[in-house]
Amino acid sequence: MSDYPHLLEPLNLGFTQLKNRVVMGSMHTKLEDRFYHYPKLAAYFAERAKGGVGLMITGGVSPNRAGWLLPMGGTMNTMGDALNHRLVTHAVHRHGGKILLQILHAGRYGYHPFSVSASPIKSAINPFKPRQMSDSEILSTIKDFARCAKLAKLGGYDGVEIMGSEGYLLNQFISRTVNQRTDRWGGDVEGRMRFPVEIVKAVRAAVGEKFIICYRLSLIDLVHNGNTMDEVVTIAKALEKAGITLLNTGIGWHEARVPTIVTSVPRAAFVGVTAEVRKHISVPIIASNRINMPDTAEKILADGQADLVSMARPLLADPDWVNKVATRRVDEINTCIACNQACLDHAFNNQRVTCLVNPRACYETELVYVKTRKPRRIAVVGGGVAGMSAATVAASRGHEVTLFEAQADIGGQFNLARVVPGKEEFHETIRYFRKMIEKTGVELRLNTSVSREDMEKQGFDDVIVATGVVPRQLKIDGANLPQVLSYADVLKGAPVGHRVAVIGAGGIGFDVSEFLLHPAGQPQPQPLADWEREWGIDPNPNYSTEGGLVRAQVQPPVREIFLLQRKTTSLGAGLGKTSGWVHRAQLNKHHVRMLRGVSYERVTSEGLWIIVDGQEQLLRVDTVVVCAGQESVRELMPAEGETTGAKYHLIGGAALAAELDAKRAIREGAELAARL
Ligand code: NAP
Ligand code: SF4
Repeated sequence: MSDYPHLLEPLNLGFTQLKNRVVMGSMHTKLEDRFYHYPKLAAYFAERAKGGVGLMITGGVSPNRAGWLLPMGGTMNTMGDALNHRLVTHAVHRHGGKILLQILHAGRYGYHPFSVSASPIKSAINPFKPRQMSDSEILSTIKDFARCAKLAKLGGYDGVEIMGSEGYLLNQFISRTVNQRTDRWGGDVEGRMRFPVEIVKAVRAAVGEKFIICYRLSLIDLVHNGNTMDEVVTIAKALEKAGITLLNTGIGWHEARVPTIVTSVPRAAFVGVTAEVRKHISVPIIASNRINMPDTAEKILADGQADLVSMARPLLADPDWVNKVATRRVDEINTCIACNQACLDHAFNNQRVTCLVNPRACYETELVYVKTRKPRRIAVVGGGVAGMSAATVAASRGHEVTLFEAQADIGGQFNLARVVPGKEEFHETIRYFRKMIEKTGVELRLNTSVSREDMEKQGFDDVIVATGVVPRQLKIDGANLPQVLSYADVLKGAPVGHRVAVIGAGGIGFDVSEFLLHPAGQPQPQPLADWEREWGIDPNPNYSTEGGLVRAQVQPPVREIFLLQRKTTSLGAGLGKTSGWVHRAQLNKHHVRMLRGVSYERVTSEGLWIIVDGQEQLLRVDTVVVCAGQESVRELMPAEGETTGAKYHLIGGAALAAELDAKRAIREGAELAARL
């Protein structure tokens, strides 16, 4: 008997069967837009099909040019397009998987001057104002969706997903704010849903009965004036009647000011609305958003809240997720930590998507770990993420690897990150590497500082220096006073006063400010009800509030905090594209005072003296926390030209502390280990 019987149970759709309840949700990878990238796209999906995923959904492809998200985005408009896609669908079918093509019309989210929508109302997140679609354009767009689905069938897809959520075109028609039409395509909910319902009917007529039509519906808009649950249920029932096979959950519009997928969102936070809609329909429904581990997924299914679970990012992080669940290797899952740094941030920056914890994602044909025929003796010095990545990849290839860590445990900077409220997921990465160290046979030596002499004496072939960073110290008068602490001291639990100045507003300055807003010992992760209250989400899944929004209730902060930077740009401008706004909103809500263009003068018993706009000021604070970046630690590296027995390599923060981040550290470790 499996530990996850519901998750692994097949689902019979009548004309076809899904082998389990795991759906890989749509994620635009940037490989779908050009046919010459399809070999890479095929390898990416094939690896996940091989990993046991029951059903996968591609990134969005538009049914016509007006529907492009970006100029020259991917389309499925011609026979040639369909034939090109066969490379992808065949690769998936070879491994027993099933795949749907997502049809996405961006509407007013289209980042180009030809965008269209229900009414000519600009989105707050796009400079381009859309043109209102005419009646005949609506009718021709319905045909475009049907043609696209028919071509998808020709291209070997098992079905299509019609993207009707997250604020894209079909969602815009359903919205009473964006759809202000007075013709048959607007007005009450019957009128507003007419366009998507007609699309489903036309697609069904074009593809026949034996083809999956999944519709992604916004179950909670999280925008002002959004739909109520009554309206959502009315739409879901109409879509069912029109011929859908599956209903997928969409949560929040892209312009919603409520986080829906970042790491601080509690796991399965939105499953209540899926369960609510499930009561009213008979087609299987897919739960989505912040489901990353099998216990969460199994509980959703066992409790009857959904029929399937969708995970996009978790399957980017670990293509073998399902196989590991099926073979009782859950502790080997490389868990998605919901950081968005290498996936959504890349997609929104028009870069190829990958994964911070799995640099092979979308690089399956380029970053290949082959067994070595010449095993080498490799020392890795430093048990942070760069070192652990290098050590485990090298050992998995057959090298003899010893990992030296000066501290009592592995994890490095991730041990600091995981104590920040909302970053609890980071501990999963340490758990994963701990298991991989054991599994790949890396010899781990904790509490062991090493010198060059040690390395040379032990006769290693290679020494990988991953010794990381130390916090940069402040060089002003009073910097050595006891009330001046580094971020590392604070995150390790050093006592902090009630009025605090945080110097440096990079990722860590924001994290530390957030950490200091809350009382020590606050439950982690944050209980769902508290989180919903803080972000103003209606806790009733059968919500009658518009868009599921209520007035936010913010807990008063336990400290008064000043967050400072020398630059004159907005604070937090360098944070992640899809997560930075959440951090800024959190600090603003808790009245953190943000000052820019600051120069730091001295610290005295009265507080921190600064100059802003040419004026000297005293910030009367009890504690100054320095979050001014890091400096590399690389004493182990030989000087240039120095002769050594082993070959030395430098990676991660030890190589470059500026803009140090875990994404680069893990990738550098893996790439080096793949080459050795
Ligand atoms: P950081 O992003 O480089 O920020 C440090 C800040 O300190 C700089 O923005 C700089 O701003 C200031 N600074 C630099 N030298 C200084 C000096 N001598 N005196 C006073 N201020 C100085 O570094 P971090 O915040 O330590 O973060 C390290 C890395 O971890 C980041 O690059 C990021 O990739 C990663 N991280 C990311 C997140 C996230 O939310 N995604 C969270 C945590 C960490 P001014 O010069 O303008 O004052
Ligand atoms: Fe998950 Fe971060 Fe990887 Fe994206 S980059 S899949 S959020 S771990």
